[in-house]
Amino acid sequence: MPTERIGYDYVNALNPPNDDVRVRRVVELAPRDKLFREPLHPYTEALISAIPLPDPVAQRKRTRIILKGELPKPTAPPPGSPFHTRCPIAIAQCREIVPPMEEKRSGHWAACHLRG
Ligand code: SF4
Repeated sequence: MPTERIGYDYVNALNPPNDDVRVRRVVELAPRDKLFREPLHPYTEALISAIPLPDPVAQRKRTRIILKGELPKPTAPPPGSPFHTRCPIAIAQCREIVPPMEEKRSGHWAACHLRG
């Protein structure tokens, strides 16, 4: 079964793709259909909302999630959840504690204190 991983690319912005240095933090892992149908992580939701739909009627009805807030420095990610500076549902805990990657539903993993 194809599995999708959604993650932040911390270092790739500073290093060309052919460099061997690449640090990535996976924030969601699930079978492809499940991930696109029911994303758990807010970052995944935002990414999926940016994908154009082939159906113009459905495209007009959908709401794109525009992330606001400060983009963290790839070389110095913030404490806690690396996404908390842009997460629309962040709580105080997100600024201090890194969310562990947990199996929230059968075969569907996410690193988020609130979702799942
Ligand atoms: S852990 Fe907090 S900041 Fe990170 S995605 Fe979940 S709610 Fe947002």
